[in-house]
Amino acid sequence: PSLPSPQPAGAIRPIERGSVHRICSGQVVLNLGTAVKELVENSLDAGATNIDIKLKDHGAELIEVSDNGGGVEEENFEGLTLKHYTSKIQDFADLIHVETFGFRGEALSSLCALSDVTIFTCHKSAKVGTRLVFDHSGRITQKTPFPRQQGTTVSIQQLFYTLPVRHKEFQRNIKKEYAKMVQLLQAYCIVSKGVRINCTNQVGQGKKSCVISTAGSPSLKENIGAVFGQKQLQSLIPFVQLPPSEAVCEEYGLNPADMPQNLYRITGFISRCDHGVGRSATDRQFFFINQRPCDPAKVVKIVNEVYHLHNKHQYPFVVLNIGVDSECVDINVTPDKRQILLQEEKFLLAILKTSLLEMFGSDVNKLNVNQKLLDMAGNLKTLPEETEKPQAEMLSDSETENPSGEGKRIMTLARLRESFSLHQGTESNFQGSKKVKQQHRSPRQRLLDTTGSTLKIQKAVLTKEAESCPKLDSRVSIPRRHSRKLEDNADSGFCSISESDAGCSTPEAGSCINSESAINSEEEFSSTEEQIQKECLETAGCSKKPLDCDVQVLGSEPRLDQVKDWTDQNEFSQEASSCSPRVKRFKSRKFKSEADDSEAGKYPEVKNTAVDVLVEVKKKIVPLEFSMKVLAEKVKKVIQQQQKNTETENYRRFKAKISPGDNKVAEDELRKEISKEMFAKMEIIGQFNLGFIIAKLNSDLFIIDQHATDEKYNFEMLQQHTVLQGQKLIVPQNLNLTAVNETVLIENLEIFRKNGFDFVINENAPVTQRVKLVSLPTSKNWTFGPQDIDELIFMLSDCPGVMCRPSRVRQMFASRACRKSVMIGTALNVQEMRKLITHMGEIEHPWNCPHGRPTMRHIVSLDLISPE
Ligand code: ADP
Ligand code: MG
Repeated sequence: PSLPSPQPAGAIRPIERGSVHRICSGQVVLNLGTAVKELVENSLDAGATNIDIKLKDHGAELIEVSDNGGGVEEENFEGLTLKHYTSKIQDFADLIHVETFGFRGEALSSLCALSDVTIFTCHKSAKVGTRLVFDHSGRITQKTPFPRQQGTTVSIQQLFYTLPVRHKEFQRNIKKEYAKMVQLLQAYCIVSKGVRINCTNQVGQGKKSCVISTAGSPSLKENIGAVFGQKQLQSLIPFVQLPPSEAVCEEYGLNPADMPQNLYRITGFISRCDHGVGRSATDRQFFFINQRPCDPAKVVKIVNEVYHLHNKHQYPFVVLNIGVDSECVDINVTPDKRQILLQEEKFLLAILKTSLLEMFGSDVNKLNVNQKLLDMAGNLKTLPEETEKPQAEMLSDSETENPSGEGKRIMTLARLRESFSLHQGTESNFQGSKKVKQQHRSPRQRLLDTTGSTLKIQKAVLTKEAESCPKLDSRVSIPRRHSRKLEDNADSGFCSISESDAGCSTPEAGSCINSESAINSEEEFSSTEEQIQKECLETAGCSKKPLDCDVQVLGSEPRLDQVKDWTDQNEFSQEASSCSPRVKRFKSRKFKSEADDSEAGKYPEVKNTAVDVLVEVKKKIVPLEFSMKVLAEKVKKVIQQQQKNTETENYRRFKAKISPGDNKVAEDELRKEISKEMFAKMEIIGQFNLGFIIAKLNSDLFIIDQHATDEKYNFEMLQQHTVLQGQKLIVPQNLNLTAVNETVLIENLEIFRKNGFDFVINENAPVTQRVKLVSLPTSKNWTFGPQDIDELIFMLSDCPGVMCRPSRVRQMFASRACRKSVMIGTALNVQEMRKLITHMGEIEHPWNCPHGRPTMRHIVSLDLISPE
């Protein structure tokens, strides 16, 4: 920065190192989740069996991770926080066999750049611990002895405060960040056998509350129990792997003979598919590849799809570990290592599909048996346990036998621990296709969209499909003037690729076709053109001179540039490249057809094309009258006309037909054109057919369904104001909520109460037991239960504090509203009609009733019938 003289703007120079660091670090540590994940991974990599995570203000103030791992030796203090300094690999080849979570040497250095980092560590060989304080470039600024047992504590204060905008955003969204972080942490808790993980959060000076806590059990199943409660376990069946069936192989276009032996070894648990056993959201789905938590989109999709075949309206709880030889995976795809590339992925999908179909198929057959088992508690529990045992034993045996990690990689990997579940991104793909319509999901959907966006971008960079983009460049040797257009196309293709897997081929193909066709016509054009020129020169003996003459004459006439182009290819290309692609294509085509005409059509037998051409050219010498004044006047007129149009058009913008197929368009139109105040200004014309109100606004006539409108209004009112009556339970019911869900519930008690749910809360009880249900809403024929609570928690974790209702309560309101409302066939006087229309202006979405029927449509604009 201290350059003696300022360099000219535009000179290419390296960015100052500190700045580079800050720019890039924000991409390694993206959010609270990544920060905690990286620290927990480091502790697991250091061989810890006990990890304590302490958060203050949900992590915004402080994140502190302490472990009893190996600690850091004094000689490594400097390297700890330097970019790309790691103790885990030395060169690229090591990457194939890497068994640690980390290997890029980025986390601590990035955290230094983004926050205030202090590390306390005591290596096994050290007599006393050390306290190290780092600056933002990762240099040690203080180093003092500090008493501590073996292990390491990393303390992160004020994450992101060096990036002011992100910091604000981070603090604003801290609850969401926190919820996502806990989901990630859950995965690590589940997969880390024999490691006790404990996380607490303290808000302000309040009491520390437990976020998550595992007991260091050697079994996956017990870890699941520790995180989600024993009750969750009862709903699970173990995954039983089968070789892909013929039918499934066919579906995936696979030849079973090509199937590599034992390439994949899949273990884990999934919800039974009986009605009501699954979950209302994908909030408990954890996938691991070689015990590394990740988001394998296609795996997630297939698991949910097969589950839906048997339990249409729910999502399974899933914990699946996919074991695969480490040569067949690439984990170094994104900095967060959540995207993993797999060899022979189709076989994996085929195995999963076959196995799940069989598991659920037999599950359904055994339905009755299962239910009996469930009643005699314990029986069902032993079932999964038996199946898991061999795996657990195998893993732990090998661990003790091969402590050096030689030989069987997977075995040593069994110690691994990592679980960050960003599965929202993939979830969105999945839900996107099926569930979007359900209104009660929409808040979540929004969340998915936002979280998905970064993921999508990463995906676009990573997926194979995306690789095809560069093909665009290489497919054809493209004339320079096209390259810019191609880039544009490639860009748009890229976006759509990232949107969805299915979409990837179309836009890409589209852009290729475009460019190719454009090129073709261009090539034809230039060849014809060359031909003509050549022939012109050869046969007619015409020298270039007369042509040049013409050009000079014509040169003063700006619009006749074809002619100019015709003689001066270079100029053409320059000009063309500054035009829009469409114009270009149009031009070349036009020229071509002219050339065709001249060549073939008009003078079929004459070989002397030169003459033809000259005639053609001469035809074009039309003196153009041009006056700047006239043009300016014309432009003015056009603008005036446009202004006039927009004025009158204000109420002529209704174009949608009244037809079921046009509902969406019609609603969008109404939403755009009709504001709330306009309802009050509408003039009532009268009632039609005892069912509809005809109203007029300026020159537009509208028809309004009296029943649908009233129903919608009544529904909204019920929705906003009804306090559902609760009925006390005789015995308080334990809900087995996760710590985070308990917190969401506790923080939104008021909303639960309005919905008729009430709880007793015991802050001192162990996690998953803190909340007990004491009162349930009742309403005539409707019964509600814990599933409705789950659904509310799900909605509230996205929009804390915003009034919402379980979908079944909405259904109930909808049917009540319907019964309450003005019926079709009822005569209404003007006042009654006025009231209904005024009500429309008081609600948020007056365009359709709770059952989806349209409430209002534009009939006609009177201006169109009798223009003044
Ligand atoms: P990476 O994990 O990719 O190696 P990090 O920046 O996360 O990179 O950590 C850098 C190095 O610091 C690690 O390679 C490890 O040697 C050391 N380290 C980090 N955290 C701990 C810990 N909790 N215990 C012992 N060593 C640690
Ligand atoms: Mg690390």
